[in-house]
Amino acid sequence: MNVALDTILPTYARAPVTFVEGDGCWLVDDNGERYLDFATGIAVVGLGHRHPDAVAAAHEQLDRLWHVSNLYWTVPMVELSRKLSERFGDPGCQAFFCNSGSEAVEAAIKYARKATGRHGIVAVDGSFHGRTMGSLSITGQPPKQDPFRPLLPGVTFVPLNDVDALRAAVSDEVGLVVFEPLLGEGGVRPASAEFVAAARDAAHEAGALLCLDEVQTGVGRTGSFFAWEQLEVAPDLVTLAKGLANGLPIGALLVSNAAPRGLEPGDHASTFGGNLVSCAAANAVVDALDEELLANVHERGAQLQAGLAALGLSVRGQGLLVGADVGRPAGEVVAALFERRLLTTSAGPETVRFSPSLTVSAELVEQALATVQEVLAA
Ligand code: PLP
Repeated sequence: MNVALDTILPTYARAPVTFVEGDGCWLVDDNGERYLDFATGIAVVGLGHRHPDAVAAAHEQLDRLWHVSNLYWTVPMVELSRKLSERFGDPGCQAFFCNSGSEAVEAAIKYARKATGRHGIVAVDGSFHGRTMGSLSITGQPPKQDPFRPLLPGVTFVPLNDVDALRAAVSDEVGLVVFEPLLGEGGVRPASAEFVAAARDAAHEAGALLCLDEVQTGVGRTGSFFAWEQLEVAPDLVTLAKGLANGLPIGALLVSNAAPRGLEPGDHASTFGGNLVSCAAANAVVDALDEELLANVHERGAQLQAGLAALGLSVRGQGLLVGADVGRPAGEVVAALFERRLLTTSAGPETVRFSPSLTVSAELVEQALATVQEVLAA
């Protein structure tokens, strides 16, 4: 079915392929061709396609009950909130569930406004937080913002890891300081531990909240459940989405129990938020993220980074969120890898992003590296 469909709005430049099946790290197209999946639906399918535990949990819930709305309690949602609160650590957090990363970010923006009574936001140049009007307003990429102005007022952008600029920007009109611990779409660029600690201190001194957007980095992607665990700075707010339900739609705003209280009944809502099937799958994902799997993320990530560096590329990343600067348009390299049946994504003009499933084996990492080598040599 590789035709230009005129029934889909052209918001994406899609590759000329239609996928019909997935299994672990592999995808199969409608001609029966197999592709090694180091894109995982843009860092989403963390346990791999058709992971038995996630499939079983979703099936069981599908057969029982799908949807009742947030006017009532449901078992999978409450279970998930408890598991996430435990992962957050002592004294834990409370969750608001929605359906996507952008929605989780919107919830964070509204939470901070209500809890602090301020609308000022400090965000980071080159960041990505989504395409809805609020999340776009704090996305530090003017080409994505410009066609949709006016956006939210009161947003100041500072360069990533510029502690002085950050401190200068966090005035007493700021209610929210927000950034990704590792910029995903913005070129796989890590926030320094110093920057994160300074952000927490500056936010708290000014009476603002620190939100780490872990939509892409969360749920084991960097080798710990939350990327912030490796930075040793616990945020007030955390957003999660992509990997949480292994590909079923879900988003979450987590609010630390130490943060000031914000939302009350009637302040915020989502009809589908906390969907039972998504939450059931997410519970299986959280349970699967044990020490052994997180160790695999560290080991395979180190192997991938070392292999790409050995090919002469400048490499950045953490765990299995890895970016390599290819010195030419990333889209060309992604397309050439695609021709050789390896799926990757671009993250910035010259950065190719590798985000395989967290379960990927050493053999498959070697296979992907061999394909990259072929493409670079061609
Ligand atoms: N925040 C981050 C860090 C992201 O990487 C993304 C998507 O790439 C989003 C928010 C938006 O998520 P969604 O596309 O699910 O709305």
